[in-house]
Amino acid sequence: MKILTVEDEPKTGDYLRQGLSEAGFTVDLARNGADGLHLALTGDHDLVILDVMLPDVDGWQVLETLRRAGRDVPVLFLTARDEVDDRVRGLEAGADDYLVKPFAFAELLARVRTLLRRGHTEPEVTTLRVADLELDLLRHRATRAGQRIDLTAKEFALLELFMRRQGEVLPRSLIASQVWDMNFDSDTNVVEVAVRRLRRKIDDRFEPKLIQTVRGMGYLMEEDESR
Ligand code: CA
Repeated sequence: MKILTVEDEPKTGDYLRQGLSEAGFTVDLARNGADGLHLALTGDHDLVILDVMLPDVDGWQVLETLRRAGRDVPVLFLTARDEVDDRVRGLEAGADDYLVKPFAFAELLARVRTLLRRGHTEPEVTTLRVADLELDLLRHRATRAGQRIDLTAKEFALLELFMRRQGEVLPRSLIASQVWDMNFDSDTNVVEVAVRRLRRKIDDRFEPKLIQTVRGMGYLMEEDESR
């Protein structure tokens, strides 16, 4: 199990690294937010322990950037300020747990083990990906090439359907029944309009185009380099 610790205070950082190593974990230690973010984005850590107050890129920014990039690695926040606002903000920003400094190492270890167990009992897919398009099902967020895309509830449902069944031709009638829960056999114009709007958001400004029209049949989502 590999843990990334982002902590700028030398003593706390060393203490965490040593304690976690002795507990059998492989530990990467970053001493500022920028390094921490880089390691978190490029590494394959099972958990991130993230100090909130960092001199450059703070813990909030690290966490937000991670989540925006679709990284759902568990994050344990360390905060020196026992403020309800901070805790709420941390959990809303996508932290999985928090610990107030100063803390007993035994408590940190217990939280770490709980988070790692949780991470392993829920292998459920929470992020769908096609090329550089990502759909975060937990946070209801879509991004393409790292850019946030705002979708209506119907557009989100439509995109989720396309992404879950990528590579499959989906007839308009099937899309209508799945997304609108209605039978639009007589009027699939609703689907066409919705697909056009969705394309404008996820395909117009990007390459390759992901939503393909299959004439006389419907639509399919796939990465088509030839267009
Ligand atoms: Ca700090």
